[in-house]
This record gives sequence, C-alpha cells and structure tokens, in this order.
Amino acid sequence: MDKISESIEAMGTMKLDKSISLVYGKDIDLAIKSLKKQVPKKPIDQSTWKACPTCNQGIGVNNKTPNPKAIAYCFHCGQKLDWD
Ligand SMILES: [Zn+2]
Repeated sequence: MDKISESIEAMGTMKLDKSISLVYGKDIDLAIKSLKKQVPKKPIDQSTWKACPTCNQGIGVNNKTPNPKAIAYCFHCGQKLDWD
C-alpha cells in the first residue's frame, strides 16, 4: 500500500475513536477527501473527450490534444490523473 493510502486508512481508524471524531470528525473527513484526490485515477473516455473520474467534468482534453499527459490534475476539483 502506498503512503497516501496508508494515511487515508490511518485517519479512518482515528475517526473510530468517538472523542477524536466528536472534535475533529469534519477535519478528518476533509483531509481524507483531499488525500484521495492525490491517488491517481484514470480519466473517463467520453467518445472524443476525457472527463475527470471524480467530478465528471471535462478536463480540457479531446482526441486532438497533442500532449494530454501534461494535464496532471483536474482543474475543477484537483483529482490527480493517471494517463498510463
Ligand atoms: Zn475533477
């Protein structure tokens, strides 16, 4: 498991402690949500263009884009993109 996935899992475990969850639950949720976007996901094929796998919005890439790998992150939500 990579370091980011380990951190996500660790924060999930922290949240199980009710005294922590009561005070920091929303902060932990935000951190988990942010960290999940750092785990690369493959863009979704929409016939001639590509969409973000997290927010489903266009990422500015179509079948004529010369170097789609230059788009490392979704500019709408910050999801890291996996082009391999
Ligand atoms: Zn997105």
